[in-house]
Amino acid sequence: MSAINLTSLSKEEFRKFVDSFDTVLADCDGVLWLGNTLIEGSPNVISQLLKIGKRVFYVTNNSSKTREEFVSKCSRLGYPSEKDNVLSTAYLTACYLQDVGFKKKVYVVGSKGITQELDAAGIEHLDVGPDPMCNDMTTLLMNEVQLDSDVGAVVVGFDEHFSFPKMVKAASYLKQPDCAFIGTNTDEVFPTEFPLTVPGTGTFIRAIETCTKREAFKIGKPSPYVCEAIIKRHNVDPKKTIMIGDRCSTDILFGNRCGFKTLLVLTGVTTLEEVHQLRKSNSKENQDLVPNYYIDRLGDMLPLLS
Ligand SMILES: [Mg+2]
Repeated sequence: MSAINLTSLSKEEFRKFVDSFDTVLADCDGVLWLGNTLIEGSPNVISQLLKIGKRVFYVTNNSSKTREEFVSKCSRLGYPSEKDNVLSTAYLTACYLQDVGFKKKVYVVGSKGITQELDAAGIEHLDVGPDPMCNDMTTLLMNEVQLDSDVGAVVVGFDEHFSFPKMVKAASYLKQPDCAFIGTNTDEVFPTEFPLTVPGTGTFIRAIETCTKREAFKIGKPSPYVCEAIIKRHNVDPKKTIMIGDRCSTDILFGNRCGFKTLLVLTGVTTLEEVHQLRKSNSKENQDLVPNYYIDRLGDMLPLLS
């Protein structure tokens, strides 16, 4: 893999680069914004890409929002968007269950972001929200846990009310070998502007994988399911697609695995130093994490594009 600095290309090379794709998949946090703070310059680049005829999709591992909520965040921060251009793991989870012809009920460890997308897809589910440990374990197991025999899938996403009773329920449903086990994404930590560590969805999934000795089917990047879903629903050609992201272990790995071109922006998680380390390493695994191109910030593309 190459990791070419985009700003080092000649005018002619940059034109060839732009002509090499017609579809742009943009990760959100770390590329377009950081939490609720806009990354300056990024909206102008997205608008310019649309203006010159590129298709743009926002691809996010965040499972806590519906597509409508993403669209309102995009418009608040100045990004042109429609529901159809948002590929969030909550939405893609509903797509996956539709794809496999799922007809039963879903037990969701997650938030309303997921259940509202399931509602939109006509898929039944149990309610989400707090399910705390109120008494001791014997009371919980004897009197409080009641399993619904219609449940045929457990979906695990980001859940700020993750609890022991939820783990007991999820793991007990998953005792049935035909109960599907789906994880929205494997991100270990949740990005935050606070100086604290916030466990991410991957942490919750691992906990349930450990006690069930089963592996969840993962929806979000770097799982290739996202690629399958966009090819099927949006007729995207991988060879003419570029993935823009800030994290090598999800965005870039995903893009490289799917045969997209990959561009790393240095406004988020992965640093240039880490990219150099990956490049120097001989392992094939690490080479898959190296982007084709990098740029300090997405906004730096604007003078080159216009
Ligand atoms: Mg990101």
